[in-house]
Amino acid sequence: MSPVALRSKSKKVCNECKPHYCQKGSQKGWACPYGINVGEMNENTDCGLCLECTRSCLYNNVSVYSRPIASEVGTRSLSEAFLTIAVFTLAIVYSVLYEGHWPLVRDFVNILDKGNWGLFGIYTLTLFVLSLVVFPGIIYLLSYAGLKFSGATSGRKELFLRSTGVLLPVGMALWIAFVIPMLFVNVTFIIQSLSDPFGWGWDFFGTSNIPWHQFLPRLTPWLQSGIVLSGAYLGLRNLSNTWRHEDIKEKQLFLLALPMGLFILTASVVMIFFFTN
Ligand code: SF4
Ligand code: SF4
Repeated sequence: MSPVALRSKSKKVCNECKPHYCQKGSQKGWACPYGINVGEMNENTDCGLCLECTRSCLYNNVSVYSRPIASEVGTRSLSEAFLTIAVFTLAIVYSVLYEGHWPLVRDFVNILDKGNWGLFGIYTLTLFVLSLVVFPGIIYLLSYAGLKFSGATSGRKELFLRSTGVLLPVGMALWIAFVIPMLFVNVTFIIQSLSDPFGWGWDFFGTSNIPWHQFLPRLTPWLQSGIVLSGAYLGLRNLSNTWRHEDIKEKQLFLLALPMGLFILTASVVMIFFFTN
């Protein structure tokens, strides 16, 4: 998702580099914690952006570049595909659970107060079935429908891997929207801390004793909606980019992407209704 990408400055230098300091470490820095050889790196997916290789590469051949947010399309393996679906599913489930109007649902995860192990078992099972069966099944059927409508040719696994990737920006946006209210209830403490950072009774800006209040309560649903819409836009953009380099016509591309596109839009609209109500 990052708008920042770490890459080598010159592929030629990497190709001639035998020690692979970035991957193995040098006297200037540690080995990459993810085992990456920067010379072979073409996407952000595996990099934790720790920047260690900017020190360990003794050829000074590593730099940080800006790029459009969420540039990667598709997924590379079934494990990545299922992980992406889990990101998307959990964002929806957690939002419903913790920010919904249904206290009954929260009883399902209230182990500490109520010891509801039976309900928790049902919740866990539901979560697994949604993440590993229901949503993957929906994605598979929708992408298969797109294939049939458009008449394009693609292997079914390849189709599933590519279609799943578009859920990442949507899922990440849903996560951000989910976290915003939790962040905003703590803003009072940040403002208080500015006046009394160590809790020693100081009052630099006259804000150390302000009463707790919800930060911008009326703005919260608007912000959440904007973020969900941004996720939908990025998902649709990536859906288009996923197939754009294939040898298919515009109309075929439209039909191929249509079912997944409608799914992204529907999920986003439903979540906007959820957050704003
Ligand atoms: S980034 Fe540096 S250490 Fe890594 S392969 Fe390229 S030149 Fe070698
Ligand atoms: S920034 Fe960190 S994680 Fe990314 S390639 Fe360099 S050392 Fe590895």
